[in-house]
Amino acid sequence: MNVYDSARMADVLAPLGYTPVDGAAGADMIILNTCHIREKAAEKVYSELGRLKGLKDRPVAEGGPVIIAVAGCVAQAEGAEILRRAPYVDIVFGPQTYHRLPEMVARAGRAGGAVLDTEFPPEPKFDGLPEPTAGKGRSAFLTVQEGCDKFCTFCVVPYTRGAEYSRPAADVLAEARHYAAAGVREITLLGQNVNCYHGEGPRGGEWGLGRLIAEIAEIVGVDRIRYTTSYPADMDGSLIAAHRDVAELMPFLHLPVQSGSDRVLAAMNRRHGGAEYRRLVDKLRKARPDLALSSDFIVGFPGETDADFRQTLEMVEDIGFTQAYSFKYSPRPGTPASLEPQVDDQTKIDRLAALQELLDSQQRAFNEGCVGRVMGVLFDCRGRVPGQLVGRSPYMQPVHAQVAESLLGTIQPLRITGGFANSLAGALTGSAAA
Ligand code: SAH
Repeated sequence: MNVYDSARMADVLAPLGYTPVDGAAGADMIILNTCHIREKAAEKVYSELGRLKGLKDRPVAEGGPVIIAVAGCVAQAEGAEILRRAPYVDIVFGPQTYHRLPEMVARAGRAGGAVLDTEFPPEPKFDGLPEPTAGKGRSAFLTVQEGCDKFCTFCVVPYTRGAEYSRPAADVLAEARHYAAAGVREITLLGQNVNCYHGEGPRGGEWGLGRLIAEIAEIVGVDRIRYTTSYPADMDGSLIAAHRDVAELMPFLHLPVQSGSDRVLAAMNRRHGGAEYRRLVDKLRKARPDLALSSDFIVGFPGETDADFRQTLEMVEDIGFTQAYSFKYSPRPGTPASLEPQVDDQTKIDRLAALQELLDSQQRAFNEGCVGRVMGVLFDCRGRVPGQLVGRSPYMQPVHAQVAESLLGTIQPLRITGGFANSLAGALTGSAAA
């Protein structure tokens, strides 16, 4: 979502004459768009700010002082603390106020200290954003939902992104049509809890995510739809049906489970146990038999025992995830779990290594099992080797192939010839190669 937000910030700043550049050197303004989900991500902000400090006092002959801004969830959570630790920062703003950037930039240009805007404004920021630019790629992110009301005991999101909000369906459809008209072939719908989407329908009533996906699939040019990140307990019948009925919905789902232990899931306030998660996966696989699943895991949550952790490993073996993210529990300020007695770091390190070894072996087995299959691949960039393009399979695996440059931005059927730890190799099938 930070990628999407950053692109929208560029849209907001375009009328002021700003255009995105590839690096900080030479830029007139530098915005760090930050993440607060784990401590490591948050700490990076301060080391990055330290590096940028030297760029601040640019001589007038070269354009004068550079504006330095901190955006996103670290800005939301730490606000004034950032200005204390890095007094050369000009603007600090949260994820819900970036539509006001032009005003903040104008204020930063005048004397009177730094600008701090970490409110949760009553008007949704989306109403204050200009038409999006589609970017260069054939794949676009589209935020449909933001915020979270679930209050998992480990998580800062409800405090930084705010309450659950769903954009009206008509706005989402307009943005999707806009991307399709600009040549985008794949749209990934975004939300902190994207499947709790319940936006106002174009003719009244409410649409869930399943309905929204079905309608986006009708837009000419949209060949692929994905959505992330989902909360298991919010997976409803119409969304499961969309996996059966909507061919454009890719057979790959990121469905964070966090732990395989009911005791830990309850302590996390997850509103589902291991059995519910397994039943949900069964239903999804009945709807879409070739569905591949990805997940998030937290190890070393307060109170997690060896037995709890073994249940996580069992869950991974039972479900057979084809990819996953896993993290050591990181205490976040203001969250209930941060106040509990903590698991020691070495135990977290050991558990993370064991979990990742299992997840990696499953990922490799899945990738190797793809050899010989024919898959549609959306080519979205050049490879490292000359004459090579890289694209994405329906299951999000990067696929390398020696193919003509002219195929960039197209979806081609490829026969998979190699399966590796993190990627596949492929070749055009007979008819397309001819
Ligand atoms: N809405 C999703 C979570 C998205 S946040 C859900 O409810 O499942 C992305 C991931 O970061 C989470 O799934 C979780 O695995 C991880 N995460 C969040 N807070 C964390 C913390 N305090 N420590 C470690 N990992 C955390």
